[in-house]
Amino acid sequence: MENLILTTIIGFLGLVMGSFAGATVWRIRAQQLVRDKKDGEQYDKTELKRLLPLTKSSLANDRSRCLHCHHVLRWYDLLPLVSWISTKGRCRYCKQPIGKFEPLMELGTAATFLLFYHYWLQHFGFDLLWLFAGWLIALVLLVILFAYDLRWYLLPDVIMFPLIGLSALVAFIQVSLLSTSADNIVGSLLSLLGSVCILGGLYFGLWLASKGEWIGFGDVKLGIALGLLLMDWKAALLTLFLANFIGTLIVIPGLLTRRLSRQTQIPFGPLLIAGFFITVVGGEVIMTGYMNVSTWLSTTLLML
Ligand SMILES: [Zn+2]
Repeated sequence: MENLILTTIIGFLGLVMGSFAGATVWRIRAQQLVRDKKDGEQYDKTELKRLLPLTKSSLANDRSRCLHCHHVLRWYDLLPLVSWISTKGRCRYCKQPIGKFEPLMELGTAATFLLFYHYWLQHFGFDLLWLFAGWLIALVLLVILFAYDLRWYLLPDVIMFPLIGLSALVAFIQVSLLSTSADNIVGSLLSLLGSVCILGGLYFGLWLASKGEWIGFGDVKLGIALGLLLMDWKAALLTLFLANFIGTLIVIPGLLTRRLSRQTQIPFGPLLIAGFFITVVGGEVIMTGYMNVSTWLSTTLLML
């Protein structure tokens, strides 16, 4: 019963934070367009006109607005999911379709929170709840980066730097809390260093080798943040493997159906974030499964 109530609360919190993440994505995009215009870079004029009202108010006193008619939304327009369903995905004022972005962000964040909560409960129970809260904040920042990079091929620093800071703090606390002896601490620190080197270092190498062509420096920073959060070099390797595996699964059908060409730009951020999250909540299952299969294979081969 207790667990059911907590699950509901975490799920609802996920919906609310997903709504916040969606609004933040649009606000960062608006600020980006204003900067592009000031720097004399190419930018989409109609998009800037549409998003400009989002730059006028500060984060603290901001009320979300309809992106079409700029009507200030009331509290009953901002209920996650409920508002979207009640108006069948249209703005209550101008009747323009709102799009699937908002509900997808809300559902995606809620699912992320619930999966992570399930993982946390199995490993730490109801201990270390403030560390759990730190992880939830990191996950919200990752959801924002995922959506932004998927859409505009950019991992904005306004989100990236807080994420790296938070990840370092979480890693520091986790190493000092979970290590019981001096040997233990050295081992944990080495594994943490390995994890950061594998994810951050590899992308840094690719960035250098391609002179920033295939890999943006944002991917390097993301690699460092994820390496800090994983704190384990084996998990970092699994994350890399999964990111490439998912990428291949998406790219090959796209190439075959010619929806993608060889020149299509593919954002690495979302792949890396997806690989990271699967590693966190399902890494153990994958590793044990792999061990079982390889033991089974080697014993079968020995018997032949
Ligand atoms: Zn509207």
